Amino acid sequence: MFVLHADADAFFASVEQRDDPRLRGRPVIVGGGVVLAASYEAKAFGIRTAMGGRQARRLCPDAVVVRPRFSAYTEASRAMFAVFEDTSPVVEGLSIDEAFLDVRGMERIAGTPAQIAVRLRAAVRERVGLAVTVGVARTKFLAKVASGVAKPDGLLVVPPDCELAFLHPLPVECVWGVGPATARRLQAWHVRTVGELAALSESTLVAMLGQASGRHLHALARNRDFRRVEPGRRRGSIGSQRALGRGRHSPAAVDATLVGIVDRIARRLRAAGRIGRTVVLRPSSARRAPTRCRSPPRTRRRSSSRRARSSRPRPR
Ligand SMILES: [Mg+2]
Repeated sequence: MFVLHADADAFFASVEQRDDPRLRGRPVIVGGGVVLAASYEAKAFGIRTAMGGRQARRLCPDAVVVRPRFSAYTEASRAMFAVFEDTSPVVEGLSIDEAFLDVRGMERIAGTPAQIAVRLRAAVRERVGLAVTVGVARTKFLAKVASGVAKPDGLLVVPPDCELAFLHPLPVECVWGVGPATARRLQAWHVRTVGELAALSESTLVAMLGQASGRHLHALARNRDFRRVEPGRRRGSIGSQRALGRGRHSPAAVDATLVGIVDRIARRLRAAGRIGRTVVLRPSSARRAPTRCRSPPRTRRRSSSRRARSSRPRPR
């Protein structure tokens, strides 16, 4: 099996640069209050997605700040997915600008996975006017890692006999499920690379990180990932998180952070053209505050037992 992971580079910012030639080659920030996207020229100044607008302008006073144009992004996404679907019959969208493509069994009609990837990149460039980076590997996990390494405007094929040689020198943060908190915990155990993670036994990792996370990381560090590319599947949820840091926080400060998170999620929903019903609030702290989950009753009639079930906190 060979999987392509195709991911547009700095998607929103690239659409802005595509549509306004004056923005090309310049640091561009999409969104004023919170950075929704930054062009590679802006990223070179240390500007990152979800950073506060003021901090971003301090890092790069010359950056051009543009208002997001979600309809343009949705349109570009549609055009890009049309190219994906012309490339392979099995496309799984991950977000507005990212998808997995299953290309196994296509050798005779379309060439090797690498040839398919080269053509895919050229077609997106020609038909949509955007740069898309493609990672090619035997597993979804590794294909996504490869595209992350190859960014921007790159193509990286990981041959089956080079998988662990490629994966093991990379930082643990490239593994799905390793966020800043897990990375810090692993670092305390002197685990910085995927290879160092792979050297630990599953039971050690489970003791360190809990059952689900320990097993998950143990498998991925060895490139064990049996998930198939599932066409038509869309992301089940859209979320956002924010680290508050140590110390006490006033209710007003927590409230302001929450409002910021809600704002970001609402923008992502609009960008993806999605609506949602259930809100999950998952505080993550040393004291493990409980996760809250609320769904408003559906507008159509539903059995009350179902409603009761959906408003119960989800087990962690
Ligand atoms: Mg992207």
